Amino acid sequence: MAALAHSTATLRLTVGELRVVHPITVPSAPVPAAEIVPALQGLVNAVVEAAEAGKSISCRKGCGACCRQLVPVSRSEGERLLQVIEAMPGESRRTLAARFAAAEKTIDAAGLKMREGRSDRELSAAYFALGLACPFLEEESCSIHRERPLICREYLVTSPAVLCSGPKQEGVTPVAVPKVSLAARGLQEEKDEWFPLAMLMVWARTRPRKATKRTGPEWVQRFLRGLSSATGRDAPP
Ligand code: SF4
Repeated sequence: MAALAHSTATLRLTVGELRVVHPITVPSAPVPAAEIVPALQGLVNAVVEAAEAGKSISCRKGCGACCRQLVPVSRSEGERLLQVIEAMPGESRRTLAARFAAAEKTIDAAGLKMREGRSDRELSAAYFALGLACPFLEEESCSIHRERPLICREYLVTSPAVLCSGPKQEGVTPVAVPKVSLAARGLQEEKDEWFPLAMLMVWARTRPRKATKRTGPEWVQRFLRGLSSATGRDAPP
């Protein structure tokens, strides 16, 4: 089968206080949005790199305290993560399926399955109080580090790591990273669409099956159009 042709462009962005110049490569042909998620991961990495420059980051491999927070994931990232899981060996898939099922049970028992009636902030605090580890967390490290959601990349702290496990996160000093990930939420939908990462399998059962296809450059243009308004919104949960 012939390899997909790709298009490359150099993005010059001003996000918050930062100026970022980043070459982005995407498929030239029409593809589902999940196919451009790797390019968006590279863009977020570039923004994070600019934001953390000169700062002393305390996050380390083996510290998974923040991996008990509610991680909001966009539909496009959800579809990408399902592909990532599908490509794993059977044993890993079974282990993950069991972890996701256990997480769903815990979230359901706590009455947090539905977002209705709560602000995102309240939901986020109640979720963190569960102490529920992300199903992808293994030995306090991310088992899908290269494929982790955009928002996971944007969370870094300069305060002592021990503070991140505190129930109220008191004293935690996150690095001010512009939340580029928010723009992914409106990539396929015309609204702010997300679900908690721990509910990936629940979402997978009910997700829209018909994926719109656009060329890679068209997806990037949509993403960039959403970026300026998205980075002006309140911080996500
Ligand atoms: S995907 Fe990885 S980095 Fe994100 S919360 Fe889960 S374990 Fe942590």
